[in-house]
Amino acid sequence: MVEASAETATARRLTFEVPTWPGNDAGAHVDLRLTAPDGYQASRSYSIASSGSGTRLTLVVAEVADGEVSPYLVRDLAVGDEVELQGPLGRYFIWRPDDPAHAGPVQLIGGGSGVVPLIPMAAANEGAERPVEFRLLYSLRTGADAFFGAELAGFERTRVDVVRTRESDGARPAGRLTQDEFAEATIPAAQSPALFVCGPTPFVETVAAWAVSLGHAASAIRTERFGGG
Ligand SMILES: Cc1cc2nc3c(=O)[nH]c(=O)nc-3n(C[C@H](O)[C@H](O)[C@H](O)COP(=O)(O)OP(=O)(O)OC[C@H]3O[C@@H](n4cnc5c(N)ncnc54)[C@H](O)[C@@H]3O)c2cc1C
Repeated sequence: MVEASAETATARRLTFEVPTWPGNDAGAHVDLRLTAPDGYQASRSYSIASSGSGTRLTLVVAEVADGEVSPYLVRDLAVGDEVELQGPLGRYFIWRPDDPAHAGPVQLIGGGSGVVPLIPMAAANEGAERPVEFRLLYSLRTGADAFFGAELAGFERTRVDVVRTRESDGARPAGRLTQDEFAEATIPAAQSPALFVCGPTPFVETVAAWAVSLGHAASAIRTERFGGG
């Protein structure tokens, strides 16, 4: 690891230099493996917050209380430490700018750390020769839990809607995203957007079911589940 910084009070941004890295599409992930001095190994998947052809990749890891791997990555891994990374992985949950297959509008929906793979998609569209309509709906607990504050503020071609579940933002009371809010904030099914939904498993399942009930084709909905109950 070559750089680390606090993303929030409970999440950390980690940058790795991988000389053999082949580059990666926006949305891909890696499998990260840790090996303890006694040989015990643990492996977890992490989305790549960066994309393109460079040899550096960035992850953002949220600490899961009582977790085996994430507390170590958030609290203990030091600059200069090495981990094993396998990837890039994932051919399905990716978006490529200027690819004719990805020429339609894109609706991103992230819950908590599920926003990680969505950010490089929006960033890639910001820099694309032929940008398409992009919207991001981001559900998080409180304003202090927001990842990528600077990136979100800098997007000029992405409409960003944020829903806070545990505090009011002044205009909206605290509470989970509702189906009505989802319908209001997202690109209508009539425009046939590609939907990328990522986050805790219950969040992803709820949102995907709403999308289908609002008329989106199941084949247009791509999901990535981070686990959790
Ligand atoms: C494709 C993919 C990409 C992912 N990308 C990211 C990412 O970019 N950033 C990130 O922080 N995490 C990401 N995750 C989740 C990550 O792989 C781990 O599951 C997470 O870091 C917890 O690992 P742990 O070893 O700390 O917890 P574990 O020891 O595995 O689990 C401890 C307890 O927490 C529960 N739990 C496990 N995962 C979660 C979770 N995500 N939320 C809530 N509870 C959970 C378990 O059910 C268990 O009860 C991704 C997962 C997948 C499958």
